[in-house]
Amino acid sequence: MNIAYLSLGSNLGGRAENLRLGLRLLNEVEKTRVERASTFHRASPVGMENAREFLNAAARVNTALDAPALLAALKNIERAAGRADGGAKWTPRTLDIDIIFFGAERLNTPSLTVPHPRYAERLFVLLPLLEIEPELADPDGTPLARIVDEGKLENRFAGQMVEKIEDKA
Ligand code: AMP
Repeated sequence: MNIAYLSLGSNLGGRAENLRLGLRLLNEVEKTRVERASTFHRASPVGMENAREFLNAAARVNTALDAPALLAALKNIERAAGRADGGAKWTPRTLDIDIIFFGAERLNTPSLTVPHPRYAERLFVLLPLLEIEPELADPDGTPLARIVDEGKLENRFAGQMVEKIEDKA
């Protein structure tokens, strides 16, 4: 079995519903269980001017799938949640699910890079992951909590607002 850490985001339609649907469908993926899911966090869009605020969450899944098969399942879930296929990057999306870590694996193929290449720049990925696992570390050994602390000191998260919302409903 493999442990994968995922980041979920939505900024279109019923955002909390989209995240809940995503988590439910994840749990229905063959040989896969959602072991932990974070609360939902409001986050300012990164790389998109004037886009609507996102809701983000993180999940830890236990899966017998390999990383490419898990990615294929995530794309199916995104489609089921109504995200148009072939859409440009950086457009509004009903549901986006990224693989942040897949065990200690390192993959760099045209369709999949793991660990996710930009996770350490994104508070909306880091903070929900830390909520479900405060001790979580990159496969290179760096604790995510340290990435957050150092990033704040170095002002690497300037302009990124991330706020936990207490009520999932
Ligand atoms: P995006 O528009 O940001 O959701 O990009 C989706 C595409 O990024 C997918 O079609 C994947 O093939 C590719 N991709 C590369 N690495 C990852 C990853 N770690 N998690 C999810 N998608 C990835």
